[in-house]
Parts: sequence; structure tokens; C-alpha cells
Amino acid sequence: KASRLFHPEDSVISVGDKTIGGNKLAIIAGPCSVESREQIIHVAEKVKEAGAGFLRGGAFKPRTSPYSFQGLKEEGLELLKYAREKTGLPIVVELMSQDKLDLYERDVDIIQIGARNMQNFELLKAVGQTRKPILLKRGLSATIEELLMAAEYIMAGGNENIILCERGIRTFENYTRNTLDLSAIPAIKKSSHLPVIVDPSHASGIWWMVEPLAKAAVAVGADGIMVEVHNDPANALCDGSQSIKPEKFKHLVDSIREIARIQ
Ligand code: PEP
Ligand code: MN
Repeated sequence: KASRLFHPEDSVISVGDKTIGGNKLAIIAGPCSVESREQIIHVAEKVKEAGAGFLRGGAFKPRTSPYSFQGLKEEGLELLKYAREKTGLPIVVELMSQDKLDLYERDVDIIQIGARNMQNFELLKAVGQTRKPILLKRGLSATIEELLMAAEYIMAGGNENIILCERGIRTFENYTRNTLDLSAIPAIKKSSHLPVIVDPSHASGIWWMVEPLAKAAVAVGADGIMVEVHNDPANALCDGSQSIKPEKFKHLVDSIREIARIQ
């Protein structure tokens, strides 16, 4: 179902009155994690002002260490809903387990399946039973074929509203947190009709690389970008080193405007 052979036209995913895919670039931005009401409202308003069309924010976080901040959980989701109400931006939130699916189906506009869950087949099957747009991130060491097969699991259940996300993969290089596989974008576009976005924040792990990598993503044909923006990166509870401040984000969007039409 994900193959272009049986579906030659590019898919355009509807999210309320917005779209992802087609000839306009989608910009998703927001903090790695929701930390407080003030923080999420401030960042949401700033990214909207700069030109983002969607707000991201983590509520349940998949952290490497069990002792790291795990997210504000249900409270984080409530704060994201409040930020959506204030700004009108649809919200993108990562779902980690099936037991929260009903909640997400009701409250979230785009359900994110994180890199660590790309091959959590039960979770994929569960979201396949909904009709919510799903942002499916490439696994840390997943091939393009494995990513497309993960999408296939969701589509097999009848949910064809999938947005793929290249977020960097594990390689021998350790200057960056991951290695952004730019070639994945034209490769996926050749074999699949699904929209593909790029997350330059997790791909690099380094704030000053986010803008050049975002531009590169647009140049190779990405349908959108997802960027981590934080009001105070130095004190962020998660992924501060790759987060950019709202002013930097505005600069990034302005420079992208010169090369693409933004949704
Ligand atoms: C995230 O988007 O905050 C995240 C945890 O991403 P990934 O699953 O790509 O590591
Ligand atoms: Mn993050």
C-alpha cells in the first residue's frame, strides 16, 4: 500500500484544514518535552509567529535512562491542548503504548511513533485501526525498506494517513548524535507516494547544524521539517543541545522561505 507502483500520485495527508505533502512545505516546531504551561505557550506563540504550521511537544518521553525526565505525561498533553487552543496550531505528540491510544485519538492531531518504536508491531497495528495522521519516525538502525514495511503495518489496518520522518541513523560517525541520511528522501520518494519529512534536530544533536540541515532537506525534496525549539535550551529538561531558540527558528524559517513555499 505504501508503494508507488500501486499509487503513482503523491499522497497528501489532511490534518484539520492543513495538509502535509504536495507542493507546500510543512513546518513542525516545538520543544522536545512540554515542561510547564508558560514554556509551551511561549514557544507555541513564537513558532507560530515565525511561520510554523504545527506544534510538536513531548508528553510521554522515551528516555535512554530511567532516571532522566520522563515527561509531564497526561498533564503535558493537557498543556499541549491549551497551547493549541491559544494558537490554533495542530499538535504532534509521541505515543509510546497502546494503553494511551484512546486518549491520543481524542486529543492529538498527529500521532508520532518514535524511532524506538518503529518496529513495535503491536503499536503499529493499533494505530492502523485509527484514521489519525501518523508521523512514523525511522528507527535508529532501520533500513529504508524496514521503514516502509513499518508504514505497511499501519496501512494494512486501513490507516493510510502516514507521514514518514528521516531523523538520522546510527553510523560509525560520532561527531553528530546520528547521521542524517539525506539520500533516504529521494530514495523513499522514488518507491513510495507517502510524504517524507526530516528532523534535523535529532539527526545532528547539535543546535547550529539544524538550519543548514533543514535547508539541505528541503533541497533534496522533503515535504517538511520538524525542529526542536526551546525558550531556554541551556536549561531544557530534554535535548537542549540540539534545541534552537525562537529567534534562531525565525531565521531558519526565513531562510527556507527563499527556497520553498511554506504551508
Ligand atoms: C522526539 O521527537 O522527541 C524523539 C524522541 O525522536 P526520535 O524518536 O526520533 O528519537
Ligand atoms: Mn527530542
